Amino acid sequence: MAQVQRMSRLLIKTLRDDPADAETLNHKLLVRAGYVRRTAAGIWTWLPLGKKVLENITRVVREEMDAIGGQEVLLPALLPKEPYEASGRYDEYGDLLFRLKDRKGSEYLLGPTHEEIFTQVVKDMCSSYKDLPVILYQIQTKYRDEARPRAGVLRGREFQMKDSYSFDTTDEGLVEAYQAHRAAYIRIFDRLGLDHRIVSAVSGAMGGSASEEFLAPAPAGEDTFVDCPDCDYAANTEAVTYKAAPADGSATAPVEELDTPDTPTIETLAAHLGVPASATLKNLLVKVDGEIVAVGVPGDREVDLGKLGEHLAPAVVELVTAEDFVGRPDLVRGYVGPQGLEKVRYIADPRVAPGTAWITGANKEGKHAKNVVAGRDFEVDDHLDVVVVQPGDPCPNCGAGLRVDRAIEIGHIFQLGRKYADIFSLDVLGQQGKPVRVTMGSYGIGVSRAVAALAEQTADDKGLCWPREIAPADVHVVAAGKALQTELALDVSEKLGAAGVRVLVDDRPGISPGVKFTDSELIGVPQILVAGRRSAEGVLELKDRRTGEREELTVDEAIARLTARS
Ligand code: ATP
Ligand code: MG
Repeated sequence: MAQVQRMSRLLIKTLRDDPADAETLNHKLLVRAGYVRRTAAGIWTWLPLGKKVLENITRVVREEMDAIGGQEVLLPALLPKEPYEASGRYDEYGDLLFRLKDRKGSEYLLGPTHEEIFTQVVKDMCSSYKDLPVILYQIQTKYRDEARPRAGVLRGREFQMKDSYSFDTTDEGLVEAYQAHRAAYIRIFDRLGLDHRIVSAVSGAMGGSASEEFLAPAPAGEDTFVDCPDCDYAANTEAVTYKAAPADGSATAPVEELDTPDTPTIETLAAHLGVPASATLKNLLVKVDGEIVAVGVPGDREVDLGKLGEHLAPAVVELVTAEDFVGRPDLVRGYVGPQGLEKVRYIADPRVAPGTAWITGANKEGKHAKNVVAGRDFEVDDHLDVVVVQPGDPCPNCGAGLRVDRAIEIGHIFQLGRKYADIFSLDVLGQQGKPVRVTMGSYGIGVSRAVAALAEQTADDKGLCWPREIAPADVHVVAAGKALQTELALDVSEKLGAAGVRVLVDDRPGISPGVKFTDSELIGVPQILVAGRRSAEGVLELKDRRTGEREELTVDEAIARLTARS
């Protein structure tokens, strides 16, 4: 017996117009179709239909987490600040943390993620290698005071996350737990019907080694990523690496100085000389832990400071200021060339390969030099890929031109290693009787964000369009008419419910068939069964929400058809 939800008794109000503050498709449609209501910026109320979708996603996540041996727990969201102070994240999170005090003045926070607390739980509960490995997870409310809570439930300040944590005594164990999560995530997102890509992520501030993100391509996404049209390569834009072409050695002409007055930028230089920007070598000066370093990239490329920072971490990268040029006659602002920078470390893009010739600064005001050859006229100390990736850049796998697309981050898996175990001295007694430091992974899925991602990916111009497993009902029965139609609609709904089919039935009196049809398309249940013109003969019309295909069926045929799919 499955639920038959009568719309005449359902807490729902569909809207013809988009809410004024809505920027993204999911926000517009989820509000208009009566799934969610905004309570405050980034804070949402889930109405009955929305709660059902959220529950369906939660169920899929839970089943797949259980299948890899995960044990579900529920930790508090209201947390003491001390563990987060110990890890340094109380400060690192900055404004992202919701902080509060209790009546005695003790300080708390609302949990943004729970590495610290899970580490403490395992330290409290596990003392021997025999207690490990263990995978713990929760599906819980998280709090982050996001700078720009927008895009509906895509980026909430309060949101639902599945977070899990693996604890192992060996590195191999961690890799195994990581791979188990990776496989479970693929199953979860496949079952949810989300088009997704796995990209290697830069590990960033969290520290640790391997880390991958699951991205759902969608125009509303806040992440950009690259993917290859010809092979299965996909990566975070910051993680793309360019392999240098071998030097061709054809550049043999001697260096020549050029008079280039008033050309301190690549644009002015390229226009003055009538050459493409790509023929010039741009040299950006930065400070790395206070020391000036030059970074050379082709003139048509931008330096990605995030990528540079990743390469040089833990050193801190900053831009130079006017003061840094004081007392440095070797650094001629706007006219820097690597051939004159003996005392400065020179980092270059792999495209600045040995043997390539460039037009670059001559280290004299208003002058540039041409035929400046890498490896002949200057040495590159480090070749690092630090440029912003562009569409058409070669795929590191197969060489085809890459695409740059937008996506929503729906999951993130992370081999943390011993970072938190070190902070909290999480050891267990090993096989040899000696303490062994535990190694850890952390793995997140944006459960409420997945609702938004699905809405974005599956909606069409009429409204939402859920995959069956996630939809708030299997079938939307519409009484398109008066008493006779309503009677048939309720009768078939009862029978479907008894056969285990989840039904939403539009039995609202005094609402025109046209409005009910529009609402059913907006709400997006995958099958729509209409009791209309031929109700007296007991004939209904079954419509596929996605394809629009229609078919007339008797009550028995409709039940047979809809139960066959459940
Ligand atoms: P983002 O870069 O989008 O801010 P994140 O990398 O900070 O996300 P994680 O700490 O990796 O997020 O959290 C795990 C998952 O939780 C993310 O992959 C995402 O799906 C989800 N998530 C993170 N922040 C939010 C949010 N503000 N609202 C809804 N879901 C979120
Ligand atoms: Mg992330």
